[in-house]
Amino acid sequence: MSDALTDPQIADLSPSTLAVSAGRPPHEPDQPLSTPLVMTSVYVAGGDLEYGRMGNPTWSAFEEVLGSLEGGHCLGYSSGLAAVSAILDLVGPGGKVVAPRHAYNGSLSQLKDAEARGRLVPELVDIEDTDAVIAACDDAALVWLESPTNPALEIADLERIIPAAHEAGAHVAVDNTFATPILQRPLDLGADVVVHSATKYLGGHSDALLGAAVTRDEELYRVLRLRRELIGAVPGTLEAWLVTRGMRTLALRVERAQANAQELARRLADHPAVSKVRYPGFGGIISIVLTHGALAADLLTHKTHLWIHATSLGGVESTFERRRRWASESATIPDALVRMSVGIEDVEDLWTDLSRALDDVARA
Ligand code: PLP
Repeated sequence: MSDALTDPQIADLSPSTLAVSAGRPPHEPDQPLSTPLVMTSVYVAGGDLEYGRMGNPTWSAFEEVLGSLEGGHCLGYSSGLAAVSAILDLVGPGGKVVAPRHAYNGSLSQLKDAEARGRLVPELVDIEDTDAVIAACDDAALVWLESPTNPALEIADLERIIPAAHEAGAHVAVDNTFATPILQRPLDLGADVVVHSATKYLGGHSDALLGAAVTRDEELYRVLRLRRELIGAVPGTLEAWLVTRGMRTLALRVERAQANAQELARRLADHPAVSKVRYPGFGGIISIVLTHGALAADLLTHKTHLWIHATSLGGVESTFERRRRWASESATIPDALVRMSVGIEDVEDLWTDLSRALDDVARA
């Protein structure tokens, strides 16, 4: 378990320092400086681990880094959706789960699946309508928050919703994938658990699938850890290593992607091919709605050289896609909405490529 909560030397460090220094072997002669990749499915008997599903030193390094950044005890999972599933699985039969109607569509699909099987009762809400969210918390077992949401980039008022949900007797989970702990720490605001698709910004290089759950609640941590072993949705060791290496530069990448996104959002607002820019003012994701509809949006994603037409987000490279090309995306997301994951390239190069493609789309 990460000692980020109890060790004052760690608790006082800033995120950019923690990202670099947490989860390393002890500073002793001949210890490796970097986190070792320990590929094994079994351990010599008689210790705490015994078998690969129970733990791994490389996962522990990942969990220490992310745990220290979020300010809690972290568990890695095989993917972000495996972490989402681990949390939803804790809600008892027939439990009510309040969730944003525009949450990540994979999380919504899990809720729909659980509802179809009679396991859970989801209530989807407009996450920006704080009073409605608070009203929905009544009788809820879990309030699932995502802020900003994917891909509508709506912002939940975490400071009001979390205490209100607790007062109503509900637990609160926050998917912090978009903001990352560099920009937002939901556990500090009272959330019971934070969930990540570490596949995105934490890894940052679009080369590994990984998920995580982080909590300050020791009992919740114990239960999640036992259930992870039981279910087997454990992290891949190479993936944990890759994401740990990726997290060393998390603060720099997030800062640069955010600076690029702020500049691009400003310029996009003035382009005639764009009818709406959704950008919450922070983070590296922008969603735009194209003036001339879904066909223009599809055209745009095929007209660039630097921007890559691809799903997912949070990598060093700039990618974008029309979200409604997925049948599973909510019909209330505009058909012509393009979600842009702004990378860390030079912002002028990004704008030259994008604005040329937008000019072409406007002429078409
Ligand atoms: N949460 C959010 C906000 C996401 O965007 C995603 C994936 O896009 C997930 C969870 C699921 O993560 P993964 O793809 O690692 O399973």
